Order: sequence, then structure tokens, then C-alpha cells
Amino acid sequence: MTDQPNTPAVLAVDWGGTWCRAGLIDRQGEVLWQARRPNPRGGGTAQYLALADTLLAEAFGLEGIHADSIGIAVAGPVDPESGTLYQPPNLMPLDGISLKQIWHERYGLPVALGNDANMAAIGEFHFGAGRDAAQAGRPHRSLFYVTVSTGIGGGVVERGSLLLGANGLTAEVGHTTIDTTTSAPPCQCGKRGCLEAVSSGTAIAAYARARLSEGRNRDSALAALSPEDLSARAVVAAAVQGDTFAHAVIARAVEGLAIGLANVVHLFNPDLIILGGGVSEGLTQLNLLPRIRQGIHERLMSELHKVFDLVPSVLGDNSGLLGAAAAAWELTDNL
Ligand SMILES: [Zn+2]
Repeated sequence: MTDQPNTPAVLAVDWGGTWCRAGLIDRQGEVLWQARRPNPRGGGTAQYLALADTLLAEAFGLEGIHADSIGIAVAGPVDPESGTLYQPPNLMPLDGISLKQIWHERYGLPVALGNDANMAAIGEFHFGAGRDAAQAGRPHRSLFYVTVSTGIGGGVVERGSLLLGANGLTAEVGHTTIDTTTSAPPCQCGKRGCLEAVSSGTAIAAYARARLSEGRNRDSALAALSPEDLSARAVVAAAVQGDTFAHAVIARAVEGLAIGLANVVHLFNPDLIILGGGVSEGLTQLNLLPRIRQGIHERLMSELHKVFDLVPSVLGDNSGLLGAAAAAWELTDNL
């Protein structure tokens, strides 16, 4: 909060599968105010829109902060021009809805909207690891952000601009195929052998469960957990304690991530790769970033491809919110 009158800000919204968050963010990326509400369980489109309206009314009703654009990060595929959501698996009540159009008409403000991984990429570029690198004298030209959590997503910022593709669907690194064997694990998307099916939090937990159900590795601390408690977080925690089986489970995910990111490097030639999401925090805690970098390097075709930094996310849980803010500031600056 600030006591200064009429502090310029933008209104940023980060709408995920569980929470809708709103924040007022200044030009430097400082969060001046924020609030969040849980998504209405079992609610329909009207209940979801009412929830967001409550948060927006709260933000616009604050004295002393003036927002003149809106940025939105949503968990799901979005048409970059119309802002229409296409079958977002975790936000199905918003399928076919354009928050960009609805909120532009309601508030008379310019609205930027994008998928949360893309928004996180521009958030890191403007306010996070990208800004830190630039301020440290290592400005980069091409940034790749990857989030490894329940699923795996990505975003590319090329010379300051988000690379969108024809329909805003670029950088779906989680659904690139990295395992073509007959035993490749199934993915949420209905295919097999995707990076997400090998290295996401969901995949880490599923792999650990499957191996333990075979009756081996009974000496692992993870063998004492119920299947519901056997999460990726639990696997990381056991690995931190030196659990051999947990380390083997994590090593498989790391290998998959290195393969996926080597593909990314060949496709996009980034000079900065940022690892976000809860699983990445665990990998950072286990000091596995050098191993990931090594695994990428081993697969690259040229020495020049190896010239990149691999760093953890600076913004963490705020990356989507601050990305939405950065996109909104781009609109404000162009007004
Ligand atoms: Zn997939």
C-alpha cells in the first residue's frame, strides 16, 4: 500500500485452476496491493465472472492508486487477438469467453491477455531474471521460460517481444515428444511420451507410485506414504534427506528435462533459460541445475548453442501476475 495520491499502476489478474488473483503493480514491478479468491467450486460462467468482478471492483475502488490498463494471465490456451479461451482444462467455465472484450467494454480500458506461461516469460523479462541479468551487465536477446509444476509450459521472449505463433500456441514444450518407446508414459493431452509425462510434478509422483507398487524399494522413506501423500514435493523432500530411490526418481525427471530443453535450445537458441514452477524450486534446492545444464550441453550440435545461462525464476508464484502487469504496462506506454 502507498499513501501517495494517484500512484500510477496497472491492474494485473492471474487466473489459475484454483485461485483468481488480482494486483495493482507499479512501473518498477512492485506490488502495491493484491487480493485473491478461490474459484467457485462447481460454479458456471456467471459465478466465475462475478468472482473476478468482485476483485476488480475492489482494486478500482482503492483510493490513491490509479490503474489505466488491465493485464490478464490465464491457465489455458488463448487466441492472442480476440482473447478467447479455448477449452482451458482447469478453467472450463471460461471456455469460449473473451475476458479481453468483456472487461474492455465494462471498464473502457485497454486489456492485454495471454496464457500464464507466456505471461510469466514477459514478467521475468521485464521484472525478474531478465532484468537482473541486464542490470548485471549481461543483457540477453532471447529468453526461454519453462514452468515445471503440475504440468509443463513455456514462453519465448525474442528481443523484448513475446513469440506467439499463428494462434498464440508457441512453446508448448511440455507436449514435445521425448520418449518414443512402447513403454512411454501417457500424458494428460492423450498422447504418450511427452516431456510433461516424464518430468512434471504429476509424472514424478506417478512414476514413484508405480515403482513402489511393484514392491521394490521398500527401504525408501516414500514406501511408508499412502498413494495420496506421495507427491512430487514428498519425493523432493525425501531426496533432500538422501533417499536413494527418491534421487533415482528425480534423476529420471531431470534427464527428461535436459532432453526437452536441448530441443528448445536447437529450436530457439536462447541465451537465457529460466526454470519456474514448484518442481523447479525442488530441483534448485537439490542443486540440480548444473546437472540439467550438463544434460543439455551433451546433446547440442555446436559450441555456440551452449552459450546460455540457466537460472531459477526470480518471480516465483508472482511470475504470472507480474507478467500480466508487464503486458498491461506495454499497453499503457503505447497509449
Ligand atoms: Zn502431452
